[in-house]
Amino acid sequence: MATVDSTPEETEPKERIAHPFRTLQELVNFVSGKSLPSAEPEEGVRSEALPFPFLAIVGQQEMKLALLLGLINPSIGGILLVGPRGTAKTTAVRSLLDLLPQVERSLCFYGCLPEDIEIGGIDAVCPDCSKKYAEGKPLSVQDRVHLIELPLNSQLDDVVGGIDERLVATHGRQRVRRGILAQADRNLLYIDEINLLADNIVDSILDAAAQGSYTVRRGPISATYHARFVLVGSMNPEEGRLRPQILDRFGLRVIVRGLDNLSERLEAYRRVQVYLSNPRGMANSYSEETLAAAEEIQSARVQLPKVILPDKIAKPAIKLIHKLGIDSLRSEIAWFEAARAYTAADGRIKVTSEDLRAVAPMTLRLRRSAFMAEYFNNQEGEELELNVLLGGIGK
Ligand SMILES: [Zn+2]
Repeated sequence: MATVDSTPEETEPKERIAHPFRTLQELVNFVSGKSLPSAEPEEGVRSEALPFPFLAIVGQQEMKLALLLGLINPSIGGILLVGPRGTAKTTAVRSLLDLLPQVERSLCFYGCLPEDIEIGGIDAVCPDCSKKYAEGKPLSVQDRVHLIELPLNSQLDDVVGGIDERLVATHGRQRVRRGILAQADRNLLYIDEINLLADNIVDSILDAAAQGSYTVRRGPISATYHARFVLVGSMNPEEGRLRPQILDRFGLRVIVRGLDNLSERLEAYRRVQVYLSNPRGMANSYSEETLAAAEEIQSARVQLPKVILPDKIAKPAIKLIHKLGIDSLRSEIAWFEAARAYTAADGRIKVTSEDLRAVAPMTLRLRRSAFMAEYFNNQEGEELELNVLLGGIGK
């Protein structure tokens, strides 16, 4: 991340990029003024195939903003949605389908990309890809980000991969089968009810997410896969708590509450009714705005590498984190990266304190640990006691 101190005249682009929505906030606040399609049932359309339009979700501004920021900047480090059932968490994640950006997709089983060579040299890719690269053949194609959902009953072998039993049976050969994490490379991985998943599975997912790759060892064979994905988890705290180390790994944390405004609730009900009876009509009535929003996200992703965070904005922010008693370094990474995404979405290249303010709650909440505060206090007491005792030696 670039952090530079400079005056606005030096770094602001001459012209702002034309945006269908002036700001990301405007996009998130968007409510279609158009009349909704008729509630006539349409035959043969599966609602899963046509997700509820993202822009038709009533309220839940912070959740929508967090999900969009995650699409713009995967370095934010994942999004956790915490709330009771029936608050549109899963609907919102699935509705991202029409907004997912384009990425470079590896043509290789192991997920090698040309940028791996640019960063880590020719040894950073598999032998097949280094040969292809030397011959000037493409290692990747342009493709849309996919939404991968992890089933709650997944076993560790499904997640990280295991021995391909079919290959063993038919060809007598052993090879490691790609797991869900390898399939999630450069995609969005959604885990509903993440707090109910077995600890070893959650740990392997979080390790892969943090490193961007993982290695599977089964007897004499091992394989390393790329796993650079945007992780979205959702949970209902009534059904079991989430371990603190898992909480720490999510960059953004959104508390999702039910709508308390009566007219918003009624509007949400009406839209769900229309969608259930005619999903295609619903998708069509939002198609223009959805396309504009998708373009907005794509152009923000292009803009993102140019976005800088000036020292004079960053330093007070770190001071504030310290004041809050938050220890994890992940808090400023998430905060600053979310602010950069927010700035990019607004067509600017310099983060302001307003940008930091806009994304602060979702990056800083649920970070303080009462346990650590008490632990450090006790530790300080022990240090003092030791010093007093040590001072007495030899007297
Ligand atoms: Zn490869």
